[in-house]
Amino acid sequence: MLFSQFFAPTSKDIPADAKIASHILMLRSGMISQTASGIYCWLPLAVRVMEKITKIICEEQDRIGAQKVYFTTIQPADLWIESGRYDAYGKEMLRIKDRKEGDFLYSPTNEEQATDVFRKYVKSYRGMPVMLYQIHWKFRDEIRPRFGVMRGREFLMKDGYSFDINFDAAKETYQKIFRSYVRTFRRLGLTAVPVQADSGAIGGNMSHEFQVLAETGESTIYSDKRLFTASDEELMTTFAVTDEKYNPKECPIAESDLIVSKGIEVGHIFYFGQKYSKPMNAFVLNENGEKIYPEMGSYGIGVSRLIGAIIEASHDEHGIIWPEPVAPFDITILNLHTKNEKCVETARRIYDALSSSKEVLYDDRSITVGEKLADADLIGIPYQIIIGQKKIENGLVELKNRKTGEITEMSIEQVIARFM
Ligand code: ATP
Ligand code: MG
Repeated sequence: MLFSQFFAPTSKDIPADAKIASHILMLRSGMISQTASGIYCWLPLAVRVMEKITKIICEEQDRIGAQKVYFTTIQPADLWIESGRYDAYGKEMLRIKDRKEGDFLYSPTNEEQATDVFRKYVKSYRGMPVMLYQIHWKFRDEIRPRFGVMRGREFLMKDGYSFDINFDAAKETYQKIFRSYVRTFRRLGLTAVPVQADSGAIGGNMSHEFQVLAETGESTIYSDKRLFTASDEELMTTFAVTDEKYNPKECPIAESDLIVSKGIEVGHIFYFGQKYSKPMNAFVLNENGEKIYPEMGSYGIGVSRLIGAIIEASHDEHGIIWPEPVAPFDITILNLHTKNEKCVETARRIYDALSSSKEVLYDDRSITVGEKLADADLIGIPYQIIIGQKKIENGLVELKNRKTGEITEMSIEQVIARFM
């Protein structure tokens, strides 16, 4: 991709209403454009990151046998009246009337709809378990949209729903999802700590939030310091709770072992048994021909919030530092002197060589050297290949690692070989 043709409206200005790094950097790097409070258009740089994230999520969902669907963004109110949540959901729900005065809503989540799809088609224990997920837009009319995409009104969520024949099977599914989430966040280049949320109706810790530690997080987390060295198996039971649940009198951990930190909730999994299957009469027949109501759970990842969370966890005073698995491009080539023939020729040669196997953004714009270097640090692509007129006289270019800041001089052949 040539930067001169790429729609990434970068800016030096610090937007007045942006308070946290991710919001400022997403606006400055031209990733998002606000259209109303908590509602954003997603521009190409952001979409590239979003697609990397969704690909990883989908691969990990596939691995555990969850199947991708698209539920709808508009749902009939009737489904929510059946579950009893229509009134309870309150003002966060955007309610819509169609031309026939029918009551609809913009999905804030899809438990009812998933249950409805299940009950229409699955009538026997033989058709179970079922695990469906989607990655789709949600709308919640948050009372205080803020921090850019962190708490938006329209946001992208991965939401999954599971249906099991009994509690033991549901518990197994829950544990499978738990491990899958640990893996997913790790692949995204993040440390997301699982925190025990409301315990399920049948005891045990059957609800966890996944929190990315960052000073700007909205949650306060009290955790056992061993959490940070725990194995995947130990993670589920190592003590960690948010302030909503923390009670110093009941804390099972010695104060000296307790760590208090701020976190951003990027995922939430929970088991809720027959909360929807019963009122919505979604039953199947078991092997004895008896009616049973499936044990359900739902599992969310805040995909658009994750982009903000990744930036909160990985930036410096110059801009974003993308973890490699989610970076919008692998490499950026900075041609510092677009009128110098040797520089142009070298940039083109490296670009052509690397483009077949890597995603490369070639900054061919005629702007000052300072602006070009600043934009590259702002956008945060992991590797910068810098071509300047002095060094190229000796056949050398510079390779800069955005994360470490380390700059290495090398020949054109060496830099190509480095990425092949
Ligand atoms: P929160 O406590 O942050 O409001 P929640 O408990 O309402 O979150 P869930 O209903 O569990 O969230 O949704 C699943 C995931 O969707 C959350 O873990 C979070 O990452 C994301 N999410 C929820 N609300 C928003 C929002 N307003 N903007 C962006 N992402 C959100
Ligand atoms: Mg909420």
